[in-house]
Amino acid sequence: MKTPFSIAVHGGAGTILKSLMTEEKELAYTNGLKQAIDAGYMVLEKGGLAVDAVEAAVIALENFPLFNAGKGAVFTNKGTHEMDASIMDGKTLEAGAVSGISRVQNPIRLAKLIKEKSGHVFLCGPEAETFAQHMKLPFQPESYFYEEGRFKQWQEVKDSDGYQLDHTVNSGEGKKFGTVGAVALDMHGNVAAATSTGGMTNKRYGRVGDSPIIGAGTYANNNTCAVSCTGHGEYFIRAVVAYDVSCLMEYKGYTLKQACDYVVKDKLVKFGGEGGLIAIDPQGNIELTFNSEGMYRGYQQQGEQAVIKIYE
Ligand code: ASP
Repeated sequence: MKTPFSIAVHGGAGTILKSLMTEEKELAYTNGLKQAIDAGYMVLEKGGLAVDAVEAAVIALENFPLFNAGKGAVFTNKGTHEMDASIMDGKTLEAGAVSGISRVQNPIRLAKLIKEKSGHVFLCGPEAETFAQHMKLPFQPESYFYEEGRFKQWQEVKDSDGYQLDHTVNSGEGKKFGTVGAVALDMHGNVAAATSTGGMTNKRYGRVGDSPIIGAGTYANNNTCAVSCTGHGEYFIRAVVAYDVSCLMEYKGYTLKQACDYVVKDKLVKFGGEGGLIAIDPQGNIELTFNSEGMYRGYQQQGEQAVIKIYE
C-alpha cells in the first residue's frame, strides 16, 4: 500500500518581524523555500525515498544565498566559513554528519556520503574534506561563500568576543537563526530528516552547534517521526531536542503535535532555548513549531498546494 507523501522545510527561526522586512526580501525568502519544497516534492512524486528528498530540498536551500548554510553561510571570527550538516534515514536509522568544513559546496551531500560510504557517522574538519575529495564532491573557493550582508554582519562583531546567531537584533534585522532543514515522508512510509548550517557569526575555537549532532538538531525514526531543528544550538544540544520529540512519542505515546509543543513551547522556553523545529510522522502529520517571533517554513502534501509562512 502506498502512503501519501509530504515534505516540509525550514530556513531558520528567530525574531523575524514583518516591520523589519521589505516586500522584496519576503518574496525572495518565499521563493527560496518554494524551490526547496519543489526539489524535495519532485523526488517523492517519482517514488523516491524520503532521505533523497530531504537531501534535494537542503541542497536547494544551501545554494540560496539568503539562508545561513552552504553559499550563504555566516562568517567565523577569522573571516572564514565553517559549515555543519547532518542527515538521518528513519527506515534504517543510518545517519551521516559533518562539521567544520569550509570549501565543500553542499555540506549535506557530504553528510549523506558519510552515511553511505565512510563506515562512520560523524567526520569533521580538513580530513572530512579529504573524504569529500575522494567522493569527488564539488569544492568552491572562499569567494563563492562571500555574501555582502553576511560580511556586514560579521564586521559589527568581529573585534569583540561576542558571537551572533545569524541576524541578531543589533544587526537591524531582528534575531533569527538561518539554519536550513527538511523532513519528508515518502510513499513507502519512510521518514527522513536533514539539517545544514553555517552556525553563528563570529564563532571561534571550532564551535559546533546542534545542527550536525544526531539527536540534537536532526533525528529520524520510522516508528516515531523525523525532526530538523533551528535555534540557539547550545540549548538544543543540552536538551537533546530532536530525539526528545521522538522519545515522547515512543515511550509516552504522545502525538507528534503534543511532543513538539511540549519540547519547544514548554521545556525549551523554561530552559532559555530560543528556536524551533519541523517534524513529520509516518501518518503524514506535519508540525512547524517555534517559540520565537517567526520561522521561515513551508510544506507540501501530496496533491495539495505548497504552504509557505514566515511569521507567527
Ligand atoms: N542551530 C544553529 C547553531 O547553533 C543555528 C541556527 O539554527 O541558525 O549552529
